[in-house]
Amino acid sequence: MGKGTQAVRVAGRFGVPHVSTGDLLRAALASRTEIGLTAKKFMEAGELVPDSVVLDLIRGRLGEPDAAGGFILDGFPRNAAQAESLGVLLEEIGGAVEAVVALEASDEALIARLSGRFSCPACNRVYNVHSNPPRRSGVCDEDSSELLQRSDDAEDVVRNRLRVYREQTEPLIAYYDARGLLARVAGAGEVGEITLRIERAVEEVRDRGSDAAAP
Ligand code: AMP
Repeated sequence: MGKGTQAVRVAGRFGVPHVSTGDLLRAALASRTEIGLTAKKFMEAGELVPDSVVLDLIRGRLGEPDAAGGFILDGFPRNAAQAESLGVLLEEIGGAVEAVVALEASDEALIARLSGRFSCPACNRVYNVHSNPPRRSGVCDEDSSELLQRSDDAEDVVRNRLRVYREQTEPLIAYYDARGLLARVAGAGEVGEITLRIERAVEEVRDRGSDAAAP
């Protein structure tokens, strides 16, 4: 579990930038840009932000120089239209999807993980009331700031995010599987072990791709 944590680690291992649409949207929201203000109500309800907004962000980010040698996308694409647009965008910039990781976890585990997540607004350290609680309830171990919950981690919003995932995002598993690009990885276990599983699964998909491309 922890797609964000894993995406950051895997990007580091492959030496490419980590591009998260959730992070880009939260940054837009924090700096009160027009995009951020449009996205706010969707994010707070656990709904998908409109495709055009997310695509503008992605197009801008992938055009930056550090993305020229590849990147790890986190949280994008989230529906069929975004997957199609990503294909077109990559073709424009002379790239292609190399592998897609489906990190698998049960709904119960996801609800416990997300609705138990709290972070420190001062140092950004992340805690979980179930698996990684602070020494004193609700207070950061490092600097004693009061811990906050992301507004979209409230349990009812998490349940909606799962429903949206099932309806709109899960069909992408079959979409990428049909193209030979899918790596399924069990999301339970220790952080480092999961990173290794992802790396191995991605290499396998890449090898399959290069075998298929060989004369
Ligand atoms: P995440 O950090 O990936 O869990 O994303 C947090 C929230 O940002 C989601 O619940 C959506 O509201 C929004 N979001 C992130 N990525 C996308 C995307 N690709 N398309 C639409 N909305 C997104």
